[in-house]
Amino acid sequence: MADPKVDFDLCIGCSLCAELCPEVFEMKDDGLAHVIEDADCDDSNCCEGAADSCPVDAIIL
Ligand code: SF4
Repeated sequence: MADPKVDFDLCIGCSLCAELCPEVFEMKDDGLAHVIEDADCDDSNCCEGAADSCPVDAIIL
């Protein structure tokens, strides 16, 4: 699970993941959540919480 991904076809841009896990997820100008470059879920314990909280299950761990 070191390398999380956001499924852009599913993401609705609610920004919850970026609020819960700002070390790994950020909102970009396209209105979607992106994984911050070089961010690693192994260094951060918030990925699972963010994935569980995503309303459309767009976060792939
Ligand atoms: S929580 Fe899910 S839907 Fe919301 S911005 Fe993050 S990836 Fe997109």
